Amino acid sequence: MKHGFGIAGIAGRMGRMLIEELAAAKAPLSGGIDREGGVNDATLYADIAGLADASEVVIDFTHASAVREHARTLARAGTSWILGTTGLSAADEAEVARAAETIPVVYAPNFSPGVNLVLALAERMAEALPAATYDAEIVEMHHRQKVDAPSGTAIGIGRAVAKGRGVDLETVKASGRDGHTGARKPNEIGFSAMRGGQVVGEHTLLFASADEHISLTHRAFDRRAFASGAVRSALWVRGKPAGLYSMLDVLGIS
Ligand code: NAD
Repeated sequence: MKHGFGIAGIAGRMGRMLIEELAAAKAPLSGGIDREGGVNDATLYADIAGLADASEVVIDFTHASAVREHARTLARAGTSWILGTTGLSAADEAEVARAAETIPVVYAPNFSPGVNLVLALAERMAEALPAATYDAEIVEMHHRQKVDAPSGTAIGIGRAVAKGRGVDLETVKASGRDGHTGARKPNEIGFSAMRGGQVVGEHTLLFASADEHISLTHRAFDRRAFASGAVRSALWVRGKPAGLYSMLDVLGIS
């Protein structure tokens, strides 16, 4: 019988935090799966099929290589799916969309409620503040170990601004200016990245005209924002019809 919430990747960094967040929400844990073994007294299933049969909802923070099998198995079992795993290929995402024809799926590369609000607001701000007058710049800072720039979230904010302006980000992106760059082009969306210390993640979107500046800043202090957003999604998804949902649907602002 299906009862409660299962965690795929239960022994991972997110998995362990999800156990705590489910407990804080008084939501029953059905158990988990993990290649590394179990955690404390949580029931460990042999495979995703066992976890899917035992759970109303499976929260999945594992690895992109597992996504296709999880999609097929959860759809077959009729178990709702909260998918936080990143690095999915187009083929993986197509399999997720196929599963969402049968079961409700909340898929978000970033489950932080704050970041998702920033994305929604960025698009609306860009619609209201024309590119000819308001220069859009995105500044981000992360810890010294981060290997890529700009961050995925910064690019997501850039995409939201581009969408609000009805343009393709790739045609207007100006990243990491250095040397004789010439004057700023009016339609540019600029990116700057700082690296240092142990900053979990800071993003500022600035719209600058000659007369005023308006900026929107998000600061992440703890990965727990992702875990609590995923648990919020898991509580929200129960009873929903099949479909592919985003964190904006969960927040009620899509
Ligand atoms: P992690 O390596 O600490 O944990 C992943 C766990 O999954 C490990 O314990 C591993 O043994 C297990 N695992 C991997 N493949 C498996 C499989 N096929 N079957 C069973 N268990 C498997 O990593 P993490 O920091 O917890 O992140 C996990 C995933 O979630 C990554 O893709 C990461 O990028 C993503 N993530 C997403 C968000 C978000 O908000 N969407 C936030 C943080 C992390």
